[in-house]
Amino acid sequence: MTKYIFVTGGVTSSLGKGIISASLAKLLQSRGLSVAIQKFDPYINIDPGTLNPYEHGECYVTDDGAETDLDLGHYERFLNVPTSQANNITTGRIYQAVINKERAGDYLGKTVQVVPHITDEIKRRVTIIGEKNNYDVVITEIGGTAGDIESLPFLEAIRQMRRDLGSEMCMVIHLTLIPYLKAAKELKTKPTQHSVKELLQQGIQPDILVCRTEHPLSQEIREKISLFCNVDVKSVIEAMDADTIYDVPLLMLKEKLDKTVIKKLKLKANKTPDLEAWKEFLGNLKNPTTEINIALVGKYNELQDAYKSIYEAFIHAGSINECKVNVHPIHSEGLDKATVTDMLSKMDGVLIAPGFGERGISGKLHAIKYIRENKIPFFGICLGMQCAVVEFAKNVLKIKDAASEEVNPKSANPVIHLMPDQVGIKLMGGTMRLGAFDCKLAKGSKVAKSYGKTSISERHRHRYEFNNEYLEQINQAGLKATGLNPQTGLVEVVELEGHPFFIGVQYHPELKSTVENPHPLFVSFVKAAVTAKLGK
Ligand code: GLN
Repeated sequence: MTKYIFVTGGVTSSLGKGIISASLAKLLQSRGLSVAIQKFDPYINIDPGTLNPYEHGECYVTDDGAETDLDLGHYERFLNVPTSQANNITTGRIYQAVINKERAGDYLGKTVQVVPHITDEIKRRVTIIGEKNNYDVVITEIGGTAGDIESLPFLEAIRQMRRDLGSEMCMVIHLTLIPYLKAAKELKTKPTQHSVKELLQQGIQPDILVCRTEHPLSQEIREKISLFCNVDVKSVIEAMDADTIYDVPLLMLKEKLDKTVIKKLKLKANKTPDLEAWKEFLGNLKNPTTEINIALVGKYNELQDAYKSIYEAFIHAGSINECKVNVHPIHSEGLDKATVTDMLSKMDGVLIAPGFGERGISGKLHAIKYIRENKIPFFGICLGMQCAVVEFAKNVLKIKDAASEEVNPKSANPVIHLMPDQVGIKLMGGTMRLGAFDCKLAKGSKVAKSYGKTSISERHRHRYEFNNEYLEQINQAGLKATGLNPQTGLVEVVELEGHPFFIGVQYHPELKSTVENPHPLFVSFVKAAVTAKLGK
């Protein structure tokens, strides 16, 4: 019998509901329970695939090709369990399902309404994931903040589930902020009281309050919150700002968040949590023996969230190498012939980021030329790999107008071109080449050595590909295609001969890196950068 936990947020956005949900899930998992986490986003887009990274941060892609919220990345990184489309639902998707049913005549004769039709569809999406896989616990994170117009149907669905299932089957954790007023030297509970009132107006009494705070909560404050918000004092959980998100499970363990949940839901869990691997990872992360500087060249650098999974993959790979990885975001638009040496010569490695469109391409090409010629470790992801192919064709093969069709549709030498099955696609949502595809690696290649095998599966999100008409020419000149899709021959990996580390991948390795399974390519890229630094 699956039990349900809802995580809501109050006072302000960006309090870290995703991290709290993932941390609780990790603790429950470490006590032998099977847990799934899902995220409900109250916006109307069917999925975040059509959102600009500036709006919404990175678009995280699952094995089954769903374009999802970046919180799913946290879930995978913490739990080491893959997610799928069912783990991320938006208001748009809920309405689409209900409207499709209405058109099909499923509600014939009835007026279709928010209550019960929309709320029923929300409840169906909550329970289906638990029932299908027999999870002990499903944690559902509700995006947005209590009081938002958009979240109302979700809160109403929670109220109904609480009523239908009772408090031993279903609970609500509310994440709030306890601000510190410098002038008064005091932590203030009023915003939390108000946000609990917002929930009460929707008929929801939270069971646990997780309070984000910059200062420890005294017993007195805890009791005050308990009294005014109607939760027992043990259910007032302190969530101090942490050095790293990976500390949060241990902080929550100390606050007994897992024990409180287990008790309230009467879960049959192991007495002691098994967090050995997690602690080892944290130990390495906090005690590095060496340090490297990596440039992350992209065009959404103002916003760290745009490259979330890349930053996290470096943390995982750094920890296992006992190496502190300092990632320096470098704006591709600021790179040209004049600035490239200054900006990249001190770097131990350079990663060229994924992306779309023409902006910043020229800077990326300048960067790659410099890295290639100066033998600085290079790692290109998706657009980064495509740029490596264009740069090579231009500067080594001397095909002056070599280009990606995405950047220059008129080029006579489109070394990167639109995939044939993308031709004619007009709809923008969910139409890229998405999700997991197999790839066969060449024996003896650097990439195969990194993985320790030749058959892999990785996740994708792109419309353009290496144009195989140029394959022989490019291969012969030294940029080898060392990874191919076994069915279609699509080039998935290129690596440069005679360079210490020059690898470009069409897929997104960062999406599969987790605390317990750091991605092999990030691990070997970090290793190569450490070696490069020693050789300086
Ligand atoms: N814009 C490129 C394409 O669509 C690369 C996409 C990416 O970097 N995710 O193929």
